[in-house]
Amino acid sequence: MALTPLSEALERILATVESQPDWEMVALEAAPNRCCAEAINATLSVPPADNSAMDGYAVASQDVPGTLVISQRVPAGQAPLPLVAGTTARIFTGAEIPAGADAVILQENAELGEGQVTLPAAQPGQHIRRRGSDIQPGDTLVGAGHRLTPQDIGLLASVGLDAVPVFRPLNVAVLTTGDELREPGSGDLHPGQIFNSNRFSLAAQIRALGMTVIDCGNLPDDPDQIGDALERAAAEADCIVTAGGVSVGEEDHVKSQIEQRGALDLWKLAIKPGKPLAFGHVAGTPIFGLPGNPVSAFITFALVAKPWLIKRQGGHPLPVQRFPVKAAFALTRPGTREEFLRVRLTGSGEALRAALTGSQSSGVLTSLSEADGLAVIAPGTTVAEGDWVEVMPLWAL
Ligand code: AMP
Ligand code: MG
Repeated sequence: MALTPLSEALERILATVESQPDWEMVALEAAPNRCCAEAINATLSVPPADNSAMDGYAVASQDVPGTLVISQRVPAGQAPLPLVAGTTARIFTGAEIPAGADAVILQENAELGEGQVTLPAAQPGQHIRRRGSDIQPGDTLVGAGHRLTPQDIGLLASVGLDAVPVFRPLNVAVLTTGDELREPGSGDLHPGQIFNSNRFSLAAQIRALGMTVIDCGNLPDDPDQIGDALERAAAEADCIVTAGGVSVGEEDHVKSQIEQRGALDLWKLAIKPGKPLAFGHVAGTPIFGLPGNPVSAFITFALVAKPWLIKRQGGHPLPVQRFPVKAAFALTRPGTREEFLRVRLTGSGEALRAALTGSQSSGVLTSLSEADGLAVIAPGTTVAEGDWVEVMPLWAL
């Protein structure tokens, strides 16, 4: 199989998503990071009534400038009386504007006397938050498929909702492979061993999407054990994500087990890091066989598996945003694959630069941990210091 460009791979992979999970109502407290199952429309106005944006005096603007009797006091939370013509109402932030008043004058600009106050001129509408100026009945607050942020939760609460329909979180099985891998906390490393980091980074990436991880642990490099574990995972999960064992080595059994117990749709992407990536299914359950090198696993999950998972969850995957930044590095040898370089952003404004964080080896996690983003270098291009490069911020990944 030839190397598939990332954009083409994404298109093919995303086209395989045909359904969404069931949905359920959850309390707002449990809704952050969940995916809205339908559009939520407002049934009332926000603010529900005209109210004061400031502490001060509510007036009919034609009555000022002048000295007016203070005829009522309106704290927030109390229904005002209509304004007696030719008087003013002492008013506080968030309090409802009395009928007959059309402006609020800041208390700092008022000269208080005995039961009356001298006020400057006012524009009609000044310092008044109009009924419905934020939200009107029927306005869509969040669209179907939107992943709820803390801000959205506040917005939904502001129209009186206490529960929201969301899709059931996907169950994603995570399985790592490798005889050399040792679990953190299981004791010291023996010669030849390293700690299993992918199991943790991948689970964290999945949980950050609001999905549920089915932790299938680590498997030895044994085809039957790997195949059996994949079938067990397939029976339980909406999707399987594995790390390791998808290269061409004799000990790489994940790819062959996908072929044996399901089908392989795609293998090998034209990206660096992350070339060996297997996508297919085992017993009908989609599977992403990610490369074992920790940086490759992280990046291929973010660029390939995540958009698929978001779509399968009922959401709308968007292309990762890229920002032009001047390079503080040079790349003299053009590559044959689209390359993702780990960069730190230094300086700001005109002096903003993208600097490499260190070794770009796909096994080096320190340079990924220190990075703010990935500079995307097209195949066949070189970079000179000061050239514009496109950077994907890691927060968008
Ligand atoms: P593989 O894709 O299985 O050939 O692994 C490629 C490289 O990534 C090897 O150096 C492995 O030791 C390493 N590796 C594979 N899986 C993991 C993992 N879960 N955690 C850390 N390193 C891994
Ligand atoms: Mg391996």
